[in-house]
Amino acid sequence: MAEHADVVVVGAGVMGCGTAYWLTRARYNVLVLEQESIACGASGMAAAMLESVGHGARLPLDDPLAELARASFALHQELARQLPEDSGVETGYRENPVLHPAFTVEEVAVLKPQALALHRHNAAMQWLEGQALWDVEPRLNRAVLGALVSPQAQVLAYRYVLALATAAERRGMTIRHGEVVGLVGHAGRVTGVRLRNGETVPAETVVLAMGPWSQQAASWVGLKIPIYPVRGQLLELLVPDPQLNASISYGGMYLVRKADGVTLAGTTEEHDSGFANHPTAAGRQAILRATLHMAPSLEEAQIQDQVSGLRPCSADQMPLIGPVPGWHGVYMVAGHFRSGMLLSAISTRIIAELITTGHSPLPIDAFNPARFGRVES
Ligand SMILES: Cc1cc2nc3c(=O)[nH]c(=O)nc-3n(C[C@H](O)[C@H](O)[C@H](O)COP(=O)(O)OP(=O)(O)OC[C@H]3O[C@@H](n4cnc5c(N)ncnc54)[C@H](O)[C@@H]3O)c2cc1C
Repeated sequence: MAEHADVVVVGAGVMGCGTAYWLTRARYNVLVLEQESIACGASGMAAAMLESVGHGARLPLDDPLAELARASFALHQELARQLPEDSGVETGYRENPVLHPAFTVEEVAVLKPQALALHRHNAAMQWLEGQALWDVEPRLNRAVLGALVSPQAQVLAYRYVLALATAAERRGMTIRHGEVVGLVGHAGRVTGVRLRNGETVPAETVVLAMGPWSQQAASWVGLKIPIYPVRGQLLELLVPDPQLNASISYGGMYLVRKADGVTLAGTTEEHDSGFANHPTAAGRQAILRATLHMAPSLEEAQIQDQVSGLRPCSADQMPLIGPVPGWHGVYMVAGHFRSGMLLSAISTRIIAELITTGHSPLPIDAFNPARFGRVES
């Protein structure tokens, strides 16, 4: 075990392992503390669609998350080459377009102008209709009036996090089982973290990457951290040939064929789930209804499994990224909701650069962890 880690990271999801990856590349000595196991949360089971303009192509171009999404997409393209080399783990990275279909004139009225506006910034973003659209994806419902076509990459979620962790371990990162229950500090500076077993682990720098459990840290740092779990369910489908070429995304639901041959059909967005992490009959029904609307010929698909995970969602649905005011040496990277796999590359790079250079490569004011105010004592 690393005797004196430069940085202790709490949580081994995509945010914690990503932070460890960049820090070890900068030769920092990192200890990751995880209460369960690597990628045991949403990070291990996500659909891991990495859409260049942000999840669901719903972000206006001037949204602060849009810049983060573009930068993260570019980093994922770089990591697609670098990470298997650094780790020896294949991440299932591939690029294929995602179709956002319009089935009504009202949907066309929203999506078509959006496609044309996006096309001015990125020629790969397009509005397609008729045969041009069937050529991209023959299984798309023929009742479609047109679709916004957007570039997308994807990875296999668990293998991606495993690759980050393995690459970091090869550069000296240590991962240890342990549930952090508090911070230890002196004169506004962190000096360590306290574990459930009573042990104190010394640390001058701590990164809180605790996903939907982040709210627990509110009492540690004296800030309101309104992050709550939002359950999402997926069906794993085995589709007889021909397989889907493109991903399809409609009304928050989607279909995506993964590098392991499975087609993921998702997803629910259950804001009242609490920490109850199990698939439900209602979830299955909603996903199947959407699946057969997007691609009716998938009625032949075999259902291999139904899984669920808890996304970390903040009160304003924006992530918390950056230093924690009032606690010198403490940083937070959490609350990425439906875009955590996409945004993880840049969010964790930002945290690593804040630690190693004191500067963020992108503006992060909109993601200030202190924006919800202080906990009243
Ligand atoms: C069904 C589904 C589909 C998704 N699809 C996509 C997608 O297509 N594209 C996309 O970009 N995103 C997607 N996401 C979202 C993405 O998965 C999440 O935003 C992301 O994984 C969150 O990562 P995280 O590291 O913040 O949290 P987590 O993965 O929850 O990791 C947090 C870790 O911290 C640990 N921890 C917490 N508290 C403590 C403590 N006190 N001590 C020690 N360890 C602790 C936990 O055990 C956990 O391992 C999807 C999510 C779901 C559920």
